[in-house]
Amino acid sequence: MGRKYRAYPTPGQDEVLTRWGHHARALWNLALEHRLMVGRKHDGRSWVWSAEQCVLLTEIRNDPDESINWIQDLPSTASQQVLRQLDQAYKNMASPSHPAGQPVFKRRGSATRLHFPGISVSVHKLNRHWAEVRVPKLGWLRFRLSREIGGTVRSCTLTRNGLGWHVSFSVHTGIRPAVPNKKPGCGVDFGITVSAWVSTEAAPRLMPPSLTVGEQLHLRELERRKGRQITFAKKYNGGKYSHRLRKTIRHIAALHARQARRRLDFTHKLTSDLAKNHGFVGIEDLRVLNMTKSAKGTVALPGKGVARKAGLNRSLRDHIPGERRRQLAYKAPMYGSQLRLVTPHGTSQTCPECRQRDPRNRVGCGRLFACVHCGHTDHADRTASIEIEARARRMGDTVIKGTRSPVRGARGRAHGTRLRAAPAAHVT
Ligand SMILES: [Zn+2]
Repeated sequence: MGRKYRAYPTPGQDEVLTRWGHHARALWNLALEHRLMVGRKHDGRSWVWSAEQCVLLTEIRNDPDESINWIQDLPSTASQQVLRQLDQAYKNMASPSHPAGQPVFKRRGSATRLHFPGISVSVHKLNRHWAEVRVPKLGWLRFRLSREIGGTVRSCTLTRNGLGWHVSFSVHTGIRPAVPNKKPGCGVDFGITVSAWVSTEAAPRLMPPSLTVGEQLHLRELERRKGRQITFAKKYNGGKYSHRLRKTIRHIAALHARQARRRLDFTHKLTSDLAKNHGFVGIEDLRVLNMTKSAKGTVALPGKGVARKAGLNRSLRDHIPGERRRQLAYKAPMYGSQLRLVTPHGTSQTCPECRQRDPRNRVGCGRLFACVHCGHTDHADRTASIEIEARARRMGDTVIKGTRSPVRGARGRAHGTRLRAAPAAHVT
């Protein structure tokens, strides 16, 4: 299980952690460059792995060149974790069930992240609300204990976003899957205008706006200010960012981080509620990566409605369908429920009354469903959720393993096992 807490470093610690964040990024880029270089020599296939690079790292740390003496500053455990993560990035690239492509170099603006193995940190509880974690070479770092850790810490990650530093632990809790809760199942249709419609409910679940009206106005004003300040910097300052511009950027990042946190809060409450109160949860087996592909096209064949599709993509990602599925996949066994992935084809065109599938059922593709065969009418998302439940019910007790369905495409077709669709999922 993952546990994430807000960390409160002292100004001195903040400075050190930020510096280490850049070091970790530089090390990643250096190690990746090394692997690419060796790969190019050996027909692009033979890679250097972290075991070999860790040995090199120790050598360099003991006797660093003038230009890379920063390498001594970053704790050795954190450095080794960077190399191991690069291993994982290569493994993900090779795995047919993972959408990752070639590992890339990290830019200055990329996420600040430091990993430590569980053995190198120790956690000490101060009182009911506060605890501290001992990070190598940094000392005790205080964090707000918003919930119990409840297990053995296996690894520790420090991250920074627009709101500040966070510490997260990967915890071994020893909790076993619960016995089936024997509650009735449901189907859920995730959408954009309607966040989620549960088949057993008469009203949809709506995500509250992630920013208040005041915050939206403030964000718009900040974006304008940022534009003005960048223009000014280019015109009079040789493109150099002023302190005021950096401050504006920080404010924008804080608002975006708050927005993301609220979205995630809604998602967690929704998925917990679904898993706790239903024997099985049926959802559509959608591929988010394919769904949110840009409509840009190519230079020779430009796409249509690019801006509109970009807007749709943004609102799709707003509703983080992949994250909902990931959460359901681990929460369902915790509460004695089951996640069932059904084929998404025609769920919103199939009539729940007469079971006939017809594209004409969706007149003009509004939010209305009107069956052309039996005259049944309802909200389109509701009919879809009922159809999803019916399909999930027909799947029976097929246990779904893994949280991702394979990515369709030419890459890696010959590799390993694939997640099979359940036998009863085809519908005419
Ligand atoms: Zn009908």
